[in-house]
Amino acid sequence: NKFEQLGLNESLLLAIKDLGFENPSEVQEKAIPVLLESETDLVALAQTGTGKTAAFGFPLIQKIDADNRNTQALILSPTRELCLQITNELKLYSKYEKGINVVAVYGGASISEQAREVKRGAQIIVATPGRMQDMINRGYVNISQINYCILDEADEMLNMGFYEDIVSILSTTPDEKNTWLFSATMPAEVSRIAKKFMHEPVEITV
Ligand code: AMP
Repeated sequence: NKFEQLGLNESLLLAIKDLGFENPSEVQEKAIPVLLESETDLVALAQTGTGKTAAFGFPLIQKIDADNRNTQALILSPTRELCLQITNELKLYSKYEKGINVVAVYGGASISEQAREVKRGAQIIVATPGRMQDMINRGYVNISQINYCILDEADEMLNMGFYEDIVSILSTTPDEKNTWLFSATMPAEVSRIAKKFMHEPVEITV
């Protein structure tokens, strides 16, 4: 099992066994060791269906401090469906890691209920940009101390008109965080976000 050679800890390897993943996909093989070994920004050109959720999800779960209740990571994704899918995956990845809470924040559902969930503790928030901006404006979330920001399907988010929201959200996060950007394509708007918010990212393509 090649997952054992990527540097993942025992609780993740157990969770991976339960998921039935036998070998890492290409994007996982390329991204996981880099993200585990160094605190770096990453740009990954990868389509959906390539296993990119685990490519960022496994290292992220390993890096979250379960004893710290602050929000440590923000994942932005284009749609409610993707948001819920990522949240469910992260819960499966962290099933043997006690005390990691993952909360989904998306439009079309009660904002006060989502605010309550975040308040109970959310080391990882998985959000759509519009609702996330709304939560920030209302003071329902604090992302001033995050260490990791993941932009999933960046090209899709920008196609959907979220440029301003993304810029505004990222502007409230610390400069020292690491940003991991995943996108199927690299149009000008995605490059603009990368240039504005990322520092010498490692680049991988699958
Ligand atoms: P994603 O690209 O993250 O949406 O993943 C696509 C699908 O592949 C999901 O259903 C995952 O559960 C599955 N998957 C991800 N990584 C692996 C792997 N290493 N082995 C088998 N299935 C995987």
